[in-house]
Amino acid sequence: MPSVDSLDVSAYVIPTAQPESDGTLTWESTCVVIVEVTSAGARGLGFTYATPACARLIDDVLRPAVLASDAMDVTGAWSSMARSIRNMGRPGISSMSIAAVDCALWDLKARLLSVPLASLLGHVRQEVPLYGSGGFTSLTSRQLDQQLTTWVEDQGMTRVKIKVAEAWGTRIERDVERVAQARRIIGDQCELFVDANGGYGVKQAVRIGSQFADFGVTWFEEPVSSDHLEGLAQVRSAVPMDVTAGEYGYDLFYFEAMCESGAVDCLQADVSRCAGITEWMRVAAVAESHGLEVSGHCAQSLHVHPAAAVHNLRHLEYFADHERVDRLLFDGVLEPRGGSLRPDLSRVGNGLDLKRRDAERYRVL
Ligand SMILES: [Mg+2]
Repeated sequence: MPSVDSLDVSAYVIPTAQPESDGTLTWESTCVVIVEVTSAGARGLGFTYATPACARLIDDVLRPAVLASDAMDVTGAWSSMARSIRNMGRPGISSMSIAAVDCALWDLKARLLSVPLASLLGHVRQEVPLYGSGGFTSLTSRQLDQQLTTWVEDQGMTRVKIKVAEAWGTRIERDVERVAQARRIIGDQCELFVDANGGYGVKQAVRIGSQFADFGVTWFEEPVSSDHLEGLAQVRSAVPMDVTAGEYGYDLFYFEAMCESGAVDCLQADVSRCAGITEWMRVAAVAESHGLEVSGHCAQSLHVHPAAAVHNLRHLEYFADHERVDRLLFDGVLEPRGGSLRPDLSRVGNGLDLKRRDAERYRVL
């Protein structure tokens, strides 16, 4: 059996064109930590959107857990990694680091077998439905118009999402104005989602949720902190639209607790955070056992193959910031068509290749 011969990690920081904000955070760059693993002349590629600190953790702790393991046995390597970080704690950068390695190992296995990753995981669907996501609170009115128009007219999106709860829920009037603006631009046929990133209080979220409902908003993401399961459940019982959360989930226990508490109508999970494809597929099973669908959170280039392979997928978040970064760093990035991504079955693995020369100028490690 081919073994994992090498593991290389690198980190890239790509500045944004202007500072970007949602309800509770502002950022000026995006960091991508890339893992490359090799076996028998094949090379697998995985990554996470995180911090350069992940690279050190991968180098020091995860590499010894994975090197020389059987390249066919991704789940075994995942188990070794999950055991290796016991004393660091599983949430946060430990799981993000495991995610980058796990995604690289799945890609490597598919390439060794000369099949697309979706075929290795097992197809449920040929196309993965998307929603356009961005709508930062930092955009000008004109920029927001342009983004929404691109999604709907050029990419065929039938669902779009904008950020609300600007400045920790202190600019309610502007939130409502922007929702009204979005509805005007996208028309009546397109679904409108909002994401508060935990910026409202419970009663505040209920009040503003009923105003959003007047504009036909059907998805209210993290109206309150996703750690406040009881608060999410209270909002969920009081507003007509779906309440959703899960992007900060790192392990099965977290997702099980979120589902069990009745906090969400649709479970979100992020393959680049929740310890990779191995765990993401199991998260989807946890959701299904509670009668829930799962929605992939951002990282669309990593999600598209596993998303094609889970039964209870609702959709995948097509995130503007990751679209920009992925195109700078990788060949093989898919173009949305008709509001969907279709895994390219003519390419093996995840279909992505690092554009080494283009990436070099952003490299920090
Ligand atoms: Mg979100």
